[in-house]
Amino acid sequence: MNTKKIVIVGGVAGGATAAGRLRRLDENAEITLLEASGHISFANCGLPYHIGGDIQEREKLLLRTPEDFWKRYRVRAEVNAVVEEVDSKQKK
Ligand SMILES: Cc1cc2nc3c(=O)[nH]c(=O)nc-3n(C[C@H](O)[C@H](O)[C@H](O)COP(=O)(O)OP(=O)(O)OC[C@H]3O[C@@H](n4cnc5c(N)ncnc54)[C@H](O)[C@@H]3O)c2cc1C
Repeated sequence: MNTKKIVIVGGVAGGATAAGRLRRLDENAEITLLEASGHISFANCGLPYHIGGDIQEREKLLLRTPEDFWKRYRVRAEVNAVVEEVDSKQKK
């Protein structure tokens, strides 16, 4: 069997959703998510409420950690991982 290897650049709404969806479509794929910032999943829409003081604890905006992603979806997620170049021919 040919195992698909998939790399997703960026987490949050688009990247994290794509990772979850890909896992549902293919339970054997090797999925890696690389996120430049320190968090793979957080509530962007909650930021104004945090700044305005309605949501005081910053942690309440953080949704999923790399550990959650591995346990729930078997997606290897790395934070502080900036993708600088993609070589599609070499698959690197
Ligand atoms: C203050 C605020 C309030 C909002 N309120 C709402 C709302 O009420 N309703 C609504 O529908 N939408 C809202 N949005 C918009 C919604 O959050 C965005 O549509 C959503 O964040 C877009 O998600 P995304 O994953 O496409 O992009 P982003 O959230 O920009 O995520 C892209 C990720 O990719 C990472 N990345 C980029 N380049 C690289 C690289 N080279 N290597 C590795 N990682 C990389 C970035 O670090 C980032 O984490 C709001 C947004 C903000 C900022």
